[in-house]
Amino acid sequence: MATRKTTPKRTAKKCTTCDGAGEIRESVRVGTRKGRATADQQTAMCPSCWGSGEAD
Ligand SMILES: [Zn+2]
Repeated sequence: MATRKTTPKRTAKKCTTCDGAGEIRESVRVGTRKGRATADQQTAMCPSCWGSGEAD
């Protein structure tokens, strides 16, 4: 009798960087030297999973 848990069909883990969303929100920075962050935010593709929302 096996006591192992039922294996889900999709085993991909949710990306922790974007929490599975596939994209992140980052502050818009202005200035080349100071890099001052503004109140504005922009959506960018998650650099960890490249939009898939899944982690390897
Ligand atoms: Zn991600």
